[in-house]
Amino acid sequence: MTTHEHDTAGSATAPTEHVVVVGAGFGGLTLIRELARKRRRGAPVEVTVIDRNNHHTFQPLLYQVATAGLQPQDIGVSLRAILRRHEGVHVRLGEVVGIDHDALEVEMADGGRVPYDRLVIAAGGQSEDLGIPGVAEHAFGLKWIPDAIALRNHVLRRFELASARPEHRHDGTLTFVIAGGGPTGVELAGTLAELVDLVLRRDHPELDVDNVRIVLAEPMEQLLTGFSEASGREALLALQQRGIDVRLGVGVARADAGQVQLTDDEVIPTATLVWAAGISAAPLADVVGVELGRGRRIPVDGQLRVEGLARVHAIGDIAASLDRDGQPLPQLAPVAIQQARYVADLVVAEAEGSTRKPFRYRDKGSMATIGRLDAVAELPGRIRLRGVVAWIAWLVLHLFMLVGFKNRVGVLGNWVWNYVTYDHSARLILEQDAQAGDLAEPEDTLKSS
Ligand SMILES: Cc1cc2nc3c(=O)[nH]c(=O)nc-3n(C[C@H](O)[C@H](O)[C@H](O)COP(=O)(O)OP(=O)(O)OC[C@H]3O[C@@H](n4cnc5c(N)ncnc54)[C@H](O)[C@@H]3O)c2cc1C
Repeated sequence: MTTHEHDTAGSATAPTEHVVVVGAGFGGLTLIRELARKRRRGAPVEVTVIDRNNHHTFQPLLYQVATAGLQPQDIGVSLRAILRRHEGVHVRLGEVVGIDHDALEVEMADGGRVPYDRLVIAAGGQSEDLGIPGVAEHAFGLKWIPDAIALRNHVLRRFELASARPEHRHDGTLTFVIAGGGPTGVELAGTLAELVDLVLRRDHPELDVDNVRIVLAEPMEQLLTGFSEASGREALLALQQRGIDVRLGVGVARADAGQVQLTDDEVIPTATLVWAAGISAAPLADVVGVELGRGRRIPVDGQLRVEGLARVHAIGDIAASLDRDGQPLPQLAPVAIQQARYVADLVVAEAEGSTRKPFRYRDKGSMATIGRLDAVAELPGRIRLRGVVAWIAWLVLHLFMLVGFKNRVGVLGNWVWNYVTYDHSARLILEQDAQAGDLAEPEDTLKSS
């Protein structure tokens, strides 16, 4: 279908394909920028990006906002600021709630409709409670910036409560349970321990922070299951040395107001459960109209096309794209980024009358920080790094991946400051509805915001 004619050099009369991208996360944003670059070189494409947030979120550093190491604006960047210099790229703020495959339009929650020639669904994932009772109601997720701010508010308020009311020093107020020993759980546990030990110990001299408990529960027998056993062991030792109570082979069985029950039946009184144990596809997957795979992900073929829908692609966390062994690719940023580059190439190739070979993911390795100056990294060729070297590699990679020069400077500045001063300076409680002295008590609810 032709939506426009435009006369860029090289394709003066070629029909312009209107590509609508839903979601400006790692996949969507890479795709838009690639298409904009190709358009500058004459490719006959025009792009509209739709996102329900007006910003891109750098999710790998959410845990640092939750632990007061970074400011929210360090890891979020306005879409209009990133995209305004690209000609032929339009931004639409809003939530997509339906797709009309016959009319070739997406349906917006505000009642609007946006026509497309080609649709790319890059709407990511959402926290998945795995059907465990009480998790949806009581646990903190860590998926978007407001989640990180809510967790930061809550953690800081637990310490304020224990300072103000001595009866809350030994009742679970200062116990923090993290479910899931993947990179997010490990990084959060390590950094939370650092926040307590280096910063809150000095902020709250009236508290004995040695009584603070951080429990990390992982149902498998290893931390960092996507990594080698050796890296899992090293992460375990490093967390234990920081005083974290790591439970392997133990998951969360249920969460109630003021307590968490583990699968070994132990009941832990706590005001805080952080859920880092599961991700499923974003709800948009449910309205695509195809049978969904595990984790409600959208099945796609080798060209990342939604099965049976020639004009619709899905990429990133929302898509179930299979590797050579027939296993779904992991829900990781590099997968979304590589898929985005592939779809940009394919869309332009097809608009110009050719095609591309099926997508193949190239695994460039994995990394996770375990705390100050410490990380594990596994690179292609069985290269394994540990400690300061891995931490520097992690740091450089994350700075490189961050979107926008200002964000890179902001993050680097905060990291240098925190490193030199042993501080986590973003310790602001920013609850809209916080009243002076209004300290939710653990028995009221696990999740107070
Ligand atoms: C805490 C955390 C830590 C992580 N750490 C790492 C890491 O260290 N390394 C790594 O590789 N990966 C990491 N990941 C995973 C990585 O962030 C994801 O794999 C990646 O973000 C997926 O990219 P995406 O483009 O598919 O979706 P996302 O980046 O999630 O973007 C989806 C976008 O779609 C928008 N959207 C959703 N639904 C709609 C709708 N209906 N209408 C309009 N817009 C919509 C959202 O607002 C969002 O902007 C982490 C994830 C989390 C949550």
